[in-house]
Amino acid sequence: MTAGPITYRELDGIDVVRLRGVGDRKRAALAEFGVTSVLDLLATYPRRWVDRTSEARIADLELDREALVLVTVRSVRKRVTRNRRTMVTAQVGDGSGRMEVVFFNQPWREKQLREGLQIALFGKASAYRGGLQMANPIVDLIGDRTGRIVPIYPQSEKVQLATWELAAFVEEALRRCADRGIGDPVPAEVRRRLGLVDREVALRSIHLPETMRDKEQARRRLAFDELLRVQLLLVLRKRMLERDAKGVAHVLDGELVRRFHRSLPYPLTAAQQRAIVEIGADLAAPFPMHRLLQGDVGAGKTVVAVSTLLVAVQGGHQGALMAPTEVLAEQHAAGVRELLDGVTVPDPDNLFGDRPLRVELLTNRVTGAERKAVLAGLADGSVDLVIGTHALIQEGVEFSSLGAVVVDEQHRFGVEQRAALRDKSSGPVPDLLVMTATPIPRTAAMTVYGDLDVSVLDELPPGRTPIVTKAARGAAAEAEVWEHVRAAVAEGRQAYVVCPLIDESEKLEVASAEDTYRELDAGALKGLRLGLLHGRLGPADKQMTMDLFRSGGLDVLVATTVIEVGVDVPNATVMVILDADRFGIAQLHQLRGRVGRGDHASTCWLVTRPHGDAAPLVDAPGTNPRVEALVASTDGFELAEVDLDLRGEGTLMSTAQKGRSDLKLASLRRDRELVALARDAAFEIVDGDPGLARHPDLHDELDLLFTETDESFLTKS
Ligand code: ADP
Ligand code: MG
Repeated sequence: MTAGPITYRELDGIDVVRLRGVGDRKRAALAEFGVTSVLDLLATYPRRWVDRTSEARIADLELDREALVLVTVRSVRKRVTRNRRTMVTAQVGDGSGRMEVVFFNQPWREKQLREGLQIALFGKASAYRGGLQMANPIVDLIGDRTGRIVPIYPQSEKVQLATWELAAFVEEALRRCADRGIGDPVPAEVRRRLGLVDREVALRSIHLPETMRDKEQARRRLAFDELLRVQLLLVLRKRMLERDAKGVAHVLDGELVRRFHRSLPYPLTAAQQRAIVEIGADLAAPFPMHRLLQGDVGAGKTVVAVSTLLVAVQGGHQGALMAPTEVLAEQHAAGVRELLDGVTVPDPDNLFGDRPLRVELLTNRVTGAERKAVLAGLADGSVDLVIGTHALIQEGVEFSSLGAVVVDEQHRFGVEQRAALRDKSSGPVPDLLVMTATPIPRTAAMTVYGDLDVSVLDELPPGRTPIVTKAARGAAAEAEVWEHVRAAVAEGRQAYVVCPLIDESEKLEVASAEDTYRELDAGALKGLRLGLLHGRLGPADKQMTMDLFRSGGLDVLVATTVIEVGVDVPNATVMVILDADRFGIAQLHQLRGRVGRGDHASTCWLVTRPHGDAAPLVDAPGTNPRVEALVASTDGFELAEVDLDLRGEGTLMSTAQKGRSDLKLASLRRDRELVALARDAAFEIVDGDPGLARHPDLHDELDLLFTETDESFLTKS
């Protein structure tokens, strides 16, 4: 039988035990690694590659700097120290020099490190008795590999698998694939255009490269495969939604939207205009829009959202705006009503040619007769715009003709809600715009929100006074912060104080907020009018405190992160964030966005305490990288990139189930260009072959590598 090249599915069906050298014990050890099939083995990539001719030499070691060296063991000795610790000492060397390695409390090293063995050591060398010494380094056994480039595999000491064994198994697996060859499911045309090496070559070179350049090309190719698979899945889904769902082909040109834009006291920014045009193209199309509108805090998303909804209204449909909480829904309702004040709908049936625009609020707090009236208005079409929480699309709320939906803050709006939205009407599916103030780096957005199109408001309206951000560390700096708060209040301004974030315990967080409130009230801010806001207050109390603050009845609002989103008090110009180093970049940025909303210059203080609560008397420079990033930049997108850098890659899928579909080689940070190329290729492939019928191997690979959970994770927005 002559079979074609081997597919990933076939490789996945071959147990590693069939490889020479893999017996039951090694099989079990590999299984600990998550490797049971030959495919798993080939997809276990080295975590680093060392070029023994140009790096990793003892002579190049710098003192107290982490580094890797490839050395040969010359001798090993074990003894017990005076305080009864075992100490294994090895003398090692390479062509360039020698050094001593010591291991404490690792008696088994004596047996592991035999004379003549080649090992890679990773650690810090220090000067010791006139020579070099490395203590407790990470050790990799590399065997007697002769190649110039040495692959080093991920491994743990517990699992009895040396890096050279993994390399040998991989080599054996590749050798046994050589006859039939390993198939390449990526169309040759795409490979040629993007300069990607063949998959089999890539697999060989990632594990056993001849040169670093080969390894790099292999990495690029295999990283592309990872990204392409993710993009294919997302693009397939996107196209499927578009195909299956009938949307409303809205008419863009109309009097209502024109009136709204004319009524604004300012011109739209270029970014707002661009977003409105992009959204318009989707609205006019016969299939439903799925678009993400990203814009930093204060970028002016509301105007874009309202424009979108009014396009639906002017065509005789209704629009809905959904917020994640009742408080936010109420704020939105107030804001939108103000924005639409005096805007009327052209109405040929009306004697005066116009009728008022009807905007209603619907949350669980709207009850009784009021609720009945709103529900009736939604059902008979007399309500034009409704603002509320997700309850809007869930609980037996009927619309006469829902044409467009805007969802503020995407986090809580998942696949199920989108399905609910589709089911909301027996007729066409409404257009959907998801708004987020959490800036997502563009490539990450392309991946994580890949079945959504993305519009970005990357420009703030003019005339904002930029927020000055300062780090305050130590007692003296903190005293300056409170002085500043007092000075601002003396000038008629207001301030927020955000209390330390306490992980996973709202109760403790509330307690800490209460403590902070009491301390400030009796101490640094004595005599000022302080208010306290936290998640455990009842809705009425919350509302009262917020209203009091908004109307100027309070000078300082001490709060937990409940004020993170939506709170808009232009007269508040000082934001103090306590224990700022406990917050993430995105959260700090959101909090900072609560100030800088008016004409007065604003300041954000990021207070950190060097050691627990005991602030030392001397100021030390801020050393938290997130705090530093906030001080250095007010650009949310730039900060999002820094955040991605600081957090490292993390995993694309949910952390709980890091699967085989996860990105192993590709990096959303480093491979930005590749992400875009993979996305384009995915569109090209899917648009030419919507069911992947002509790309059966690609199709099969998606089936093989993605679980349903992966799929729903990737496609939730
Ligand atoms: P976001 O929701 O993106 O945080 P908002 O829509 O709340 O931002 O707008 C923030 C502020 O900017 C509002 O006070 C709004 O009136 C104002 N604004 C919006 N667009 C413009 C514009 N083009 N020019 C000037 N001010 C604007
Ligand atoms: Mg807003």
